[in-house]
Amino acid sequence: MAAAGAKRPATALEEPAVDVENMVQVLPLGAGQEVGRSCIIVKYGGKTVMLDCGVHPGFHGLASLPFFDEVDLAEVDVMLVTHFHLDHCAAVPYVTGHTPFRGRVLMTHPTKAIVHTLLRDFVKVSRGGTGEGLYSEKDLEAAIERTEVIDFHQTVDVDGIRVTAYRAGHVLGAAMFMVEIGGMRLLYTGDYSRIPDRHMPAADLPDQRPHIVIVESTYGVSRHLPREEREQRFVERIHTAVARGGRVLLPVVALGRAQELLLILEEYWERHPELHGVPIYQASGLARRAISVFQAYIEMMNDDIKAAFNVANPFQFKHISHLKSAAQFDDVGPCVVMATPSMLQSGVSRELFEAWCEDPRNCVVIADFAVQGTLARDILGNPSEVMTRNGVKVPLRMQVDAISFSAHADFPQTSEFLDTLQPPHVVLVHGEANEMGRLKKALEQHAAALGIPRTLYMPKVTQSVLIEHKAERTAKVVGRLGEKAARLGQPVRGLLVQGRGGTRTLMHHEDLPRFTKLHPGHVVQRQALALHRPFSEVRLALEMMFEGTQGAGDLGRVDAAGSPSRSGAQMLRIGDAVTLTYQPSDAAASGASGTVVLEWCGGSDADMVADAVVAVVLQAAGQPPGLPAIEVQRHKALAAGDVEAAAAAEAGIITSLLGAQFGPARVDADQGLIFVDVDGQHVVVNAKSGKVQCADGALRERVERALGRMQAALSPLDVSDLGGA
Ligand SMILES: [Zn+2]
Ligand SMILES: [Zn+2]
Repeated sequence: MAAAGAKRPATALEEPAVDVENMVQVLPLGAGQEVGRSCIIVKYGGKTVMLDCGVHPGFHGLASLPFFDEVDLAEVDVMLVTHFHLDHCAAVPYVTGHTPFRGRVLMTHPTKAIVHTLLRDFVKVSRGGTGEGLYSEKDLEAAIERTEVIDFHQTVDVDGIRVTAYRAGHVLGAAMFMVEIGGMRLLYTGDYSRIPDRHMPAADLPDQRPHIVIVESTYGVSRHLPREEREQRFVERIHTAVARGGRVLLPVVALGRAQELLLILEEYWERHPELHGVPIYQASGLARRAISVFQAYIEMMNDDIKAAFNVANPFQFKHISHLKSAAQFDDVGPCVVMATPSMLQSGVSRELFEAWCEDPRNCVVIADFAVQGTLARDILGNPSEVMTRNGVKVPLRMQVDAISFSAHADFPQTSEFLDTLQPPHVVLVHGEANEMGRLKKALEQHAAALGIPRTLYMPKVTQSVLIEHKAERTAKVVGRLGEKAARLGQPVRGLLVQGRGGTRTLMHHEDLPRFTKLHPGHVVQRQALALHRPFSEVRLALEMMFEGTQGAGDLGRVDAAGSPSRSGAQMLRIGDAVTLTYQPSDAAASGASGTVVLEWCGGSDADMVADAVVAVVLQAAGQPPGLPAIEVQRHKALAAGDVEAAAAAEAGIITSLLGAQFGPARVDADQGLIFVDVDGQHVVVNAKSGKVQCADGALRERVERALGRMQAALSPLDVSDLGGA
């Protein structure tokens, strides 16, 4: 197989037609079935997050970048960078400086500081390499300038995307990110380790259960040697090699594992005086600069280091000296040299490798994960020859060892981590296809054996994974609505305000300016009606129609806001919703008694009351003569609590209304019957039961319908709770 992910997959999976609203999209632009150029896009609820932004160590220039053209980078809201390794951070200045990306950039304090140092070097190295560098120092400075920092266990809200950083172990400052969008939680581990080592604590176990975990799978199903054992093997190899007069090359990343190995060597040399004549060199000015960063962030390291720092600086080494360049190095005999880069692509480590590879006494120990497509990986296959940078084939006789010190989780760690967090969905990234495939199978079998529901995915680069997540429809109740304790089964009415991040808040409309930048507006409706009857009749009809909740006879809900003024104008409030103003006409000669003006705030409830008021006004204005007198009787009876008298008056009113609509009508109060003559047809209405008798079925139905309307008009409308629209 060629270098993993060097080419875009020929066919990306067709995206099935799905309800995009409820789908989380996970799209690796890099690190999909490969190690290198970590960059994963997560889209959900209209939000886009970029997780890491690295380069691939097996490629150069633009080819080393993630496949950025697969997405519209202008849509990315936030970029989260887990740690300072180049495969996670080195493309950041490219994205911020050379693409439409406008989002925010977050990383921890130490990551920001070390990324700054490392990428300054990266800019120089990549400019010195083949072709143009990816970006300039100016781009780097601008990227660092706009990078915001996040502390461990701090939560930052980016327009509704809640980001929380957790410790990832691995290297200084390394973070895992919990991303929460609209109730959906996703954890991205980056590179992580659950086992503490000499200088780093273990990764945290987040306290919230994620729905999706995107986890590295670098070591697949392998199990790491216990720390003591691998340290023992490491120092033994080195001791044996120098004892036989050999030179030992330790290709390392400038930061992280280098510090770990230095601590081990320093301690071993201290215990072995016979080795004191063998020098240990650290051939990296960069690492020396980085030590100051480590010292600045010593608080973030593990307890042993912190304790040691109280006595003496644990990075002040007695047996290790610094080497500015390979040229300065006096290559005279047995020695140990730690040099960058870790994959032997170029630089000092490559130079020394080529100088030493033909001598069988010498030894190279690959302590990092060897990435496909690099010389470090190639020599692990025990080739008899290697190609120098000058294109000359030379025999490979030096001893090649791989002892992994890279702080990535192994199978037991990842398995236990997932068993504890129990995410229903797990997306594997940052691993080569074969290792990843084995890990996927093992994790599936493990979950099945335990009865844990778990779906695993291992997308290639540019292949989307779509995971359904039904959005939680929850709303936070705030302000005066929240003052009363909620009761089961009791609905809460209010305004639902949806924030940009999908957060929902329920509040009383008057609280709107308190909790949002919105201000409530009112649409005042106004309707004028000409009145041809005395206003007292209209007012009476209204008082009968709209009564409060205190009882049929109570008039408390309708209050005359102004006593009749000199001009005879009057004002009524009907419920909380409608204001009615009566203005008598100036010229009695016009035949009109005056004008009624209704005013109310637009809204479904108030509109309903206003409509009813208009109906009552029109009805009162046009009702048959004599009716007001009976209505006064009924009203008085109701006020006095005389139910029988009220019923009798009601029968009288209905008789009067039926007479006006159909023909001569009379009431027999004793029997409670109303007799109506309609063009010779006889209709009998039972005033109490509402039963209608008539030989003509069609006529009976007409009378029934009319009766229904009249009875509805006579029953009071409760407007007491219509205020809070
Ligand atoms: Zn890493
Ligand atoms: Zn990595």
